[in-house]
Amino acid sequence: MASPTQMQCYLVNRGADGAIEAGVARMPLDQLPAGDVLIRVEFSSLNYKDALAATGHPGVVKQFPHIPGVDAAGKVAESGDSRFRKGDKVLVTGYGLGADRWGGFADYIRVPADWVVPLPAHLDLRDSMVYGTAGFTAAQSLDAIIRHPVNPDDGPVVVTGASGGVGCLAVGLLSRAGYEVVASTGKKDAHGMLKGLGAEKVVGRDDVIDDTDKPLSKARWAAAVDTVGGNTLASIIRATSRGGCVTACGLVGGVELPLTVYPFILRGVTLVGIDSAECPQETRRRLWQELARDWRPKELYRVGRTVELDGLPKRIDEILAGRAIGRTVVELV
Ligand code: NDP
Repeated sequence: MASPTQMQCYLVNRGADGAIEAGVARMPLDQLPAGDVLIRVEFSSLNYKDALAATGHPGVVKQFPHIPGVDAAGKVAESGDSRFRKGDKVLVTGYGLGADRWGGFADYIRVPADWVVPLPAHLDLRDSMVYGTAGFTAAQSLDAIIRHPVNPDDGPVVVTGASGGVGCLAVGLLSRAGYEVVASTGKKDAHGMLKGLGAEKVVGRDDVIDDTDKPLSKARWAAAVDTVGGNTLASIIRATSRGGCVTACGLVGGVELPLTVYPFILRGVTLVGIDSAECPQETRRRLWQELARDWRPKELYRVGRTVELDGLPKRIDEILAGRAIGRTVVELV
């Protein structure tokens, strides 16, 4: 069979009037960037960063036309690198995918071989994208808490933005690892999913915020996975117990951190920054193996809904408005 010359994709472009236009389009395969491995993408996923890219956000998109999608899973179509052969099942998350170079909202991606992770046994391509960057970020957060170490009997672990992609998967992973998880969410209709993923308690967004100007508040959390940032993250750090560990990955609630040094110097609290995009390959492979088996949340199926490329605009609007629940898998087969 002749090799395809065109691919279907979700293309973001800037019109002559400067307005951003986005939609399903066809592009020639030979316009893909250079790279060792051509992958026939079967599934991608929608992350907050992809929603920013789909609206042409200058912090993510460096050049137009652009194809978003920081995640992709599929089969190797061509490889110029001896580590990968045609037909191998693989996944790629982060690095420059969907940001510096065209991403996973397309039938094909071409990437450097160093970015490619072999799909672990016991994980299928779709489930790898139910996780995607969100699940991988949640895994990095759990890994930081385990290695700190904070143990399950040290006390509750709070997850903020819990109905979102990173949040709900962090709830599932922490619960599977034996932690008592308190999920903080702004959405009443997400309580069932969060309980199903193992949250012991579900509280509102305001329940974790301390609006006083005290440098420390009553210790409530042994550890935390914060996806929100801003005052939420600052409040949580101030309410973390002696020797606790707080991971920070997100900014949906703000980029400022109104805080003093007291939680660090009087309670020995550790703040761990999570950067999934540039995570070293060795750690990536180790964490993907964990996600495939021992860390797999008990109700992963509750988390992912599937759309095709033409279903993306609605989901993008939801995620940007903070209304999304769980994960959106993008199907390209
Ligand atoms: P989602 O949009 O899926 O989830 C974010 C959740 O945060 C929402 O569902 C909502 O949850 C909550 N939220 C939204 N707006 C606000 C607000 N104004 N104030 C407080 N809470 C709010 O995004 P993701 O899970 O994909 O990503 C979460 C964050 O993590 C983003 O900032 C993203 O950029 C970042 N991220 C960072 C990575 C890294 O490597 N550092 C990797 C992946 C993501 P609820 O209604 O339940 O409160």
